Amino acid sequence: MTYPNTQLFINGEWQDAADGRSLAVFNPSTGKEIGRVAHAGKADLDRALAAAQKGFETWRDMTAADRNKIMRKAAGLMRERAAEIAPHLTQENGKPLAEAKGEAMAAADIIEWFADEGMRVYGRIVPSRWNLAVRQMVLKDPVGPVAAFTPWNFPINQVVRKVGAALAAGCSMLVKAPEETPAGPAALVKAFADAGLPPGVLGLVYGDPAEISSYLIPHPVIRKITFTGSTPVGKMLAGLAGQHMKRVTMELGGHAPVIVAEDADIALAVKCAGAAKFRNAGQVCIAPTRFLVHESIRNEFAQALAKYASGLKVGDGLAEGTQMGPLANPRRLTAMAEFHEDAVKHGAQVLAGGKRIGDTGNFWEPTVLMDVPLGAKVFNDEPFGPVAAIRSFNTLDEAIAEANRLSFGLAGYAFTKSLRNADLLSRKVEVGMLWINMPAMPSAEMPFGGIKDSGYGSEGGPEALEAYLNARAVSVMNV
Ligand code: NAD
Repeated sequence: MTYPNTQLFINGEWQDAADGRSLAVFNPSTGKEIGRVAHAGKADLDRALAAAQKGFETWRDMTAADRNKIMRKAAGLMRERAAEIAPHLTQENGKPLAEAKGEAMAAADIIEWFADEGMRVYGRIVPSRWNLAVRQMVLKDPVGPVAAFTPWNFPINQVVRKVGAALAAGCSMLVKAPEETPAGPAALVKAFADAGLPPGVLGLVYGDPAEISSYLIPHPVIRKITFTGSTPVGKMLAGLAGQHMKRVTMELGGHAPVIVAEDADIALAVKCAGAAKFRNAGQVCIAPTRFLVHESIRNEFAQALAKYASGLKVGDGLAEGTQMGPLANPRRLTAMAEFHEDAVKHGAQVLAGGKRIGDTGNFWEPTVLMDVPLGAKVFNDEPFGPVAAIRSFNTLDEAIAEANRLSFGLAGYAFTKSLRNADLLSRKVEVGMLWINMPAMPSAEMPFGGIKDSGYGSEGGPEALEAYLNARAVSVMNV
């Protein structure tokens, strides 16, 4: 199976770092080095910034319809190439091939939706309150070149949500993509380049994340920052952006509650929440993490979820039939061992999993823990791995209070047959995205983002475009 080396994409050209530096890329299933990625230095960033400024001026001055044509062509190329991109994604991130292909295909849908939404960026005319000879206009303009920072869990999806919205609004974007999973983002950028995107509109760099963010965020060319990753890093970058008065979208961590009410369809809850829990080995910001189950059905639910988890086929994502791959990097393996040991020390019962699988690659058993005390680390810090932690509740108010206890507010899930409960949960659970009686189904046309410490701004729906637009007031007196 081949895997490409990844270069930087600056001013419409693929190139090595000016000083020739590169980093190794490892396959999380085997632990072996599979390729290299170019490591940008300051000289590369300066060229990328100059290109982003020029690219912005070109792209901003094109019609939305012309931008739409190029974006739609890029979407078509992603769809055509999905089968050939998927194995690269699986080799660098570990996710099963079918999930990898789904991610590449979904990118096409996202690009198309934003491309079309870009044609509906309208201003408005506001009648003057003083003089009918005055025409007051609200103009929507792109904010300018954007710096984007994306993580390794969805190498393509995390980039395309940003690129789709930014390009549709008329911005240029310089992406600092994840060094651990560089081929996926490069395949996406290549689709845009091959679709005829003018040089500089989209740039791609890799390197030292802290070095790059501390250089790009204050830089005068950059007018907006968008970041997806952990809450601590997000707060740091938002602080830096604040010092330089840059607009910001922050897509940060979560700790999604799953409330399974007394009247829930248990089989549906296990099927939906189980699939969401172990998808991408739990390394998903909207993954269900705190399972809050009514006392009367706690045993039945927990046993069914444990059976589901134990039945999953774990292995190399390239192997036929694999349902869950390895964790994407050895850091997550260490984190899982810590979460597990701490939960057991606090008195949690292990119903499934709880161990590393073998000694090659970053495999961790799909794990289900029951009666997890609130003080356990897994009920407080984002686990970001294949562990489901269950505890019971007696009243729905109690469950809602627990759901809202943490500072996170990204995603939530609930299962209930009662309209009254569903309505109460919709109003009271403090999350940016709530799914009731169904699996998570994010789509380009729905807002995607968190509240509280999970960030601000949205990466879906018309709100996502607004984040890349300035609203300016221009008034003309008819003299
Ligand atoms: P991390 O917190 O160091 O990094 C998270 C991401 O931020 C990575 O992509 C990294 O390259 C980037 N990053 C780190 N420091 C940066 C800086 N100074 N400037 C710019 N980017 C920076 O840890 P990690 O081990 O890579 O990931 C672990 C945690 O990150 C997880 O537990 C999870 O909470 C979070 N995470 C969240 C998402 C998400 O989808 N929201 C995705 C990946 C990781």
